[in-house]
Amino acid sequence: MSFNDGAQLDPSQAEDRRGGMGTGKKVGIGLGGGLVLLIGALLGINPSLLEGLTGAGTGQEPAATGTQGIAACKTGAQANERLDCRIVGTANSLNDFWPAYLKPYGVDYTVPTTVIFSNGTNTACGPATTDVGPFYCPGDGKAYFDPAFFQELETRFGSSGGPLAQEYVVAHEFGHHIQDLLGTIGRAQQDPQGAASASVRTELQADCYAGIWIRYASSQPDPATGQPFLEKITQKDLNDALSAASSVGDDRIQQAATGSTNPETWTHGSSAQRQKWLYTGYQTADLQSCDTFAVKTP
Ligand SMILES: [Zn+2]
Repeated sequence: MSFNDGAQLDPSQAEDRRGGMGTGKKVGIGLGGGLVLLIGALLGINPSLLEGLTGAGTGQEPAATGTQGIAACKTGAQANERLDCRIVGTANSLNDFWPAYLKPYGVDYTVPTTVIFSNGTNTACGPATTDVGPFYCPGDGKAYFDPAFFQELETRFGSSGGPLAQEYVVAHEFGHHIQDLLGTIGRAQQDPQGAASASVRTELQADCYAGIWIRYASSQPDPATGQPFLEKITQKDLNDALSAASSVGDDRIQQAATGSTNPETWTHGSSAQRQKWLYTGYQTADLQSCDTFAVKTP
């Protein structure tokens, strides 16, 4: 969805670790956080599998967007132009939407820090590189994004472009934050692999929560302006989000990387499952309908 040009962004909800800021630095592929790290990730893949995927290599950060820093992200017009500002604006919209939505459930929403990094960064879940894709770390309650990944979503994973494809990725990670607040995110660890595993159910639920936000995003007013952050959703927007969800399905990534699929090793769900649950969230806008643990086959 496009941002309303006059929307006021709040970059203080995000932390910029690019270009020597913060603790961002080039780190090795350290999956020291292992399972904890992968629980919150968008992708269910071992980074070594990525080498089998075609397209541009990872870690090639285009310098252009990183030079100004997110402190300069002030308006919706900038969110329409700059990817890093779009991540900030999407986080602003999510932080605007979820508190009131969760209130009837007795959940006190806390704002997760949105971290923008390049190449690699350190987290409470261990060091992480761009290769693992965007992720949420329950250990520090922060959501991590390398803008370079959003380009790879198209070039490497074959998603369509479009702002909602990218905004969906941010909303998915915030879905894990909601699970963290609800106390359900740890379920993934007890049953980490398989098409009907707790891990897959946890990931599909995060997709479903993203769908709930998509449904409300363009009608939720920003308190600062009284206007919504986002313009009305179009059919193309929705198609872009579904395309992105499909592009990060376990079956599609495995097929592209190895030429075969193995549902027993799935951690995030197939392309069809991810589309289905994202759409369920969008269509029902109901937290209970996102109970992926209540159905026999998610
Ligand atoms: Zn995830």
